[in-house]
Amino acid sequence: MDDSLTSVKLSNGLQVPALGLGTWQSPKEEVKTAVRAALDAGYRHIDTAYNYMNEDAIGEVLQEYIKSGKVKREELFIVTKLPMIHMEPKLVKRSIEMSLKKLQLSYLDLYLVHFPVPLVYEGDDEKVFPVTEAGGWKAAEKTDLLGTWKAMEELIDLGLTKSIGVSNFSISQIERICKIAKHKPVTNQVECHVYWPQKELFDACKKQGVTITAYAPIGSPGRPERLKGKDEPVALEDPVITKIAKKYKKSPAHVLLRNLLQRGIIVIPKSVTPDRIRSNIQVFDFSLTKGEMDEIASIKTKRRYFDMMGAMFPNHPERPW
Ligand code: NAP
Repeated sequence: MDDSLTSVKLSNGLQVPALGLGTWQSPKEEVKTAVRAALDAGYRHIDTAYNYMNEDAIGEVLQEYIKSGKVKREELFIVTKLPMIHMEPKLVKRSIEMSLKKLQLSYLDLYLVHFPVPLVYEGDDEKVFPVTEAGGWKAAEKTDLLGTWKAMEELIDLGLTKSIGVSNFSISQIERICKIAKHKPVTNQVECHVYWPQKELFDACKKQGVTITAYAPIGSPGRPERLKGKDEPVALEDPVITKIAKKYKKSPAHVLLRNLLQRGIIVIPKSVTPDRIRSNIQVFDFSLTKGEMDEIASIKTKRRYFDMMGAMFPNHPERPW
């Protein structure tokens, strides 16, 4: 076991388990099985979001494991995200309190601003993606990212979360926040995998002491059809990745995850399949050589699987891509 890669130190001194369980598109009943399998397999980092509508199911299992003494709260690293409809500074505290209640926790380890474009809050907390008549997401006219950040910082001062961070932010958005921050973002959670390695963003964040957390680390094969283009390259089937996997008798998912971990990137592969959950964490018993890391870095195929998220806001000043 290569201990040096099992956790990543954040700028506030906290250690985050470098591999966590993703839970986007994990329905309530399935996520309960998934979180139980993950905790039993040694995962201590769970990533969810207000928008995923599964915080309450995750909270049930966390309570069950903490109450029975199987895990201690302080061993866990629980992450959730501020929805786009609650980015108005006055709504931020109420939103984390709603998430904490569902998760049955008194504090989070990390709270992220989910996306830099605020959506209109219509007074309905369930309507997380209000739409325009044309069918697009209804972005708020007034945008105050720095105001949202100041409201996030207060959550640390109130003891509601130990760290704060962002997700889907561009280099310039990270720089603007770091310039005024009392508590800097500890991470920027973004799409990052072999076909979208985010080298420039990684370097710019590193300069500011901001880590990268990779979503879609194995290429998000289960993302909805509307996010899939025709003839898209499949990261799990990449010939370089499958060749290296064969050499180490590991799965392509292991090689994709190990590549990111060796770059110093936190990974949160999602699965609701207990066997895959148990398997995905088996990435600390082999390592890629420098030659293999270079070979993966030189793969020419490039593809941002979540292109559409930026395209939803063609004219918005905070559109991150
Ligand atoms: P991912 O983790 O790259 O891929 C998940 C998909 O891969 C699921 O369909 C899963 O299927 C399948 N899978 C898992 N392990 C596998 C294995 N060993 N072999 C083959 N297939 C496997 O993609 P993601 O869910 O898009 O991203 C990961 C997490 O990042 C999310 O769950 C979420 O927590 C976070 N995320 C954040 C944002 C954001 O905007 N901040 C956006 C997207 C995702 P089964 O579940 O059926 O096993």
